[in-house]
Amino acid sequence: MKLSERVRNISPSPTLAVDARAKQLLAQGVDVVNFGVGEPDFDTPAHIAEAGIAAIRQGFTRYTPAAGTVELREAIAARLHRDHGLEYRPDEIVVSVGAKHSLYNAVMALCEPGDEVLIPVPYWVTYPEQVKLAGGVPVIVPTAEATGFRVTVEALESKTTPRTRVLILNSPNNPSGAVYRREELEAIGEFVLRHDLCLISDEVYEKLVYDGHRHVSPAALSPELKARTVVVNAVSKTFAMTGWRIGYAACCRELARAMAELQGHVTSNPTSISQQAALAALAGSDAPVEAMRREFLRRRDVMVARLSAMPGLSCRVPEGAFYVFPDISALIGKTFNGRKLEGSTDVAAFLLEEARVATVAGAGFGSDRHLRLSYATSLERIEAGLARVEEALGKL
Ligand SMILES: *Cc1c(COP(=O)(O)O)cnc(C)c1O
Repeated sequence: MKLSERVRNISPSPTLAVDARAKQLLAQGVDVVNFGVGEPDFDTPAHIAEAGIAAIRQGFTRYTPAAGTVELREAIAARLHRDHGLEYRPDEIVVSVGAKHSLYNAVMALCEPGDEVLIPVPYWVTYPEQVKLAGGVPVIVPTAEATGFRVTVEALESKTTPRTRVLILNSPNNPSGAVYRREELEAIGEFVLRHDLCLISDEVYEKLVYDGHRHVSPAALSPELKARTVVVNAVSKTFAMTGWRIGYAACCRELARAMAELQGHVTSNPTSISQQAALAALAGSDAPVEAMRREFLRRRDVMVARLSAMPGLSCRVPEGAFYVFPDISALIGKTFNGRKLEGSTDVAAFLLEEARVATVAGAGFGSDRHLRLSYATSLERIEAGLARVEEALGKL
């Protein structure tokens, strides 16, 4: 069968080989410590899960409006107001099948063929692929580890052309953990307005920030910037609800209507049951979120301290999310069993074979000199996995 160019252009995941090997080892009963996971290891808090069960029992199992129930959109609006002072009406909010779907709707509604979309590196793997699916051109913008992986206006300017339409910003960042400061966002906001761009702001890790850093939503910086911004968020990472699939976008009414219409012909509404659970999450207490954040913080500190002490690794302290992104430059070029480690994919494969530890190569995030390790796993497993990493590195 001849497949469309659209799907043939999807890049194969550079982590596929390591993933497949990790699964193979697990199937053979090998004890692999998994630092590859991209989701909280906690269960969905009980009161949220119960709201989903209640929805089924009450027969809340039919179609809802494509953009989500009015109650849920009101709860999202209330939260955006409470947390960021932002004013959105329910018709400026679209609930989708996870933040990934919200991002896709936004890119599809904004990009003409050939439009360029600025994506700072390191980036979440899905952004460039979604831009290509929409016919746009992903333009990767460099950042420096020395400036905390936060993109500067100079770097953005250097990649801006008359075809630039959109900037995708992700703070707190997956994979680097970088959290942008207010002044930086103000400068980026001015850049967006100066070039008449749209800003897609992926804020799915907003509640996972540490060390007194604060998450600032760029839409809250000025009414002008709010009008050019799509705020994307989800209950997935915040409330340990990845499998429920509820994300949302808040933006101007015109774009929200377009996204709702698009979604109406693709998925219709996200699951009615999950919407009721998300309503309980957003309308309820944030105490469980804070408990998870504190636990993530303890784990981060252990992971950063242990990794930093290992020869060949340097690891900056991430300010948010639940990943560390150590620099592995010093390992590249080393030889093990006659094989040279050429880049992050080889280092990840080496750690899997020699340490039985799964990590994600930085190559997939646009940086071949880093690895991503998730600390969404227990302290016990973190200790065990890092001891093995240390031992394996000793063989190089
Ligand atoms: C996990 C993740 C998402 C997707 O969230 P879902 O709600 O599960 O679709 C979006 N952006 C980033 C940066 C993520 O890490």
